[in-house]
Amino acid sequence: MDKIRTRLKAGCSQEWLPHICLVLTIAAVAFAQTGEISGERLRAHVKFLSSDSLEGRGVGTRGEKLATEYIATQFELIGAKPAGDRGTYFQRVPMVGVTTQPSATLAAVGAGQTVAFKWLDDFVGVSELQQAADQFDAEAVFVGHGIAAPEFHWDDFKGVDVKGKVLVLFTNEPPSEDPKFFGGRALTYYGRWTYKYEEAARRGAKGVLIIHTTPTAGYGYDVVRSSWGKEDPQLKLAAGQPALAFAGWLSEAAGARLFGMSSKKVEEMLSAANSRDFRPIPLGLHIRANIPTRIRQIESRNVVAMIPGSDPALESQAVIFTAHWDHLGIGPAVKGDSIYNGAVDNATGCAILLELARAWQALEHKPKRTALFAAVTAEEAGLRGSEYYAEHPVIPLAKTALDLNFDGFYPFGRTKDISVTGAERTTAWPVVQEAARRMELKIQAESHPEQGHYYRSDHFSLAHAGVPAFSINQGTEYYGKPADFGEKIFQDYNDKHYHQPSDEYHDDWDFSGMEQVAHFGFLIGTTVANQDGLPTWHAGDEFLPAREKSGKP
Ligand SMILES: [Zn+2]
Repeated sequence: MDKIRTRLKAGCSQEWLPHICLVLTIAAVAFAQTGEISGERLRAHVKFLSSDSLEGRGVGTRGEKLATEYIATQFELIGAKPAGDRGTYFQRVPMVGVTTQPSATLAAVGAGQTVAFKWLDDFVGVSELQQAADQFDAEAVFVGHGIAAPEFHWDDFKGVDVKGKVLVLFTNEPPSEDPKFFGGRALTYYGRWTYKYEEAARRGAKGVLIIHTTPTAGYGYDVVRSSWGKEDPQLKLAAGQPALAFAGWLSEAAGARLFGMSSKKVEEMLSAANSRDFRPIPLGLHIRANIPTRIRQIESRNVVAMIPGSDPALESQAVIFTAHWDHLGIGPAVKGDSIYNGAVDNATGCAILLELARAWQALEHKPKRTALFAAVTAEEAGLRGSEYYAEHPVIPLAKTALDLNFDGFYPFGRTKDISVTGAERTTAWPVVQEAARRMELKIQAESHPEQGHYYRSDHFSLAHAGVPAFSINQGTEYYGKPADFGEKIFQDYNDKHYHQPSDEYHDDWDFSGMEQVAHFGFLIGTTVANQDGLPTWHAGDEFLPAREKSGKP
């Protein structure tokens, strides 16, 4: 730290370009002040937020109440101002909790036979209609990946009317090495299950059954099962909004039985789906379902605080920091433990958010633009709290400079690198590069682009609405550890703890790497809060039209 600070001063005394010098001055200020970011405080937040008494921070539970009160109280202690409804730290998010009852039945009927699937073991899912029960009997049609992407000249529907039908499909997208075709190895939004359900609903489908395979989903069926075998917090349906009577998944084995009824195999269907010539395949059978559903009105909340900017001309604009506070709550027990603590996912991100607010508040000279800190709800249910925020922003989106999101950190020490997937698509990229250079961090290429992480956390809701946005994730090259350590802990977490009750706090965790991430975010945030003009997306980016539509700051 001292070493970096000394060199920052030396840099400014030389005749550097004025704007670089500004960056350096801010960097020096940032480093001088972020003594406020302490690993021990990060630890205390993570330990409390992921403790059993918070019951896994499920949306609309006692755990929500405790977690959001804690975060609001911390904001208040720090001195950040309330930015929620009616002078509070809370933005109300009206939701409907939908729980499929275990008595749900789903069967495929055709060719003189009926194949029944077992709730949880074979299928999971939920009705989007937000009513007490759903019964249907509808024709099943296989639609490949269920994608209509004119810009890639890809259409799985080929004009076939799927209204009232149950669409059977695979998640993910056609495999490609060409970055111009569905992002190459990287996943685009078309590959996400959320897109599949949205597209099917737009086309008036009755339901969707995604056939799970570990490669197409990016995680095992146990993750699907634990994420879906419980209450689904949905944003309240607007009048006339299309919705599915059943949005579900079938395990690969169950999918094999379903396809087997039409003498087809999973492998064969997947390879058919990967062809541009693919046309919907009627399966010659019906899906008969009875989905009893428990409905509960939930008033969930985002926790929002702000620290006003110092420049009267720019304080109406803001840099926003986001992290989701929710996790999966109490769910199916694994090895006798039913509390899904969500320590890594995402008590860690909330801890960083709180310490960023503290560091910002400690600045003697506040940046010109306002800083907004939003701990958002219902990320695990499909980024719903951040989606609600993007529809009801505290600072107009056109005046929102940048969203920096924090989601999921492994507290195993400092790294030599950092990951900022998506930052390169924005005009904030030089600021990000400069911050990395100052902190002697290598910017790492995304290590698992095929998992589509860009579309799997809350910055995506802001990006979708046009705001330049990305997550800051830690790197994988740890100081003092073997080269493969980072990849090993990633695999270990993904296989054994991701969305499982075992994502728990441990006393031997080392929070120095999270300090590093927070410093990095602070440096980018303060620089953008002071710079001339607001960042935007590069020409040709999928999010630029939304940025331009949001109007003039
Ligand atoms: Zn998660």
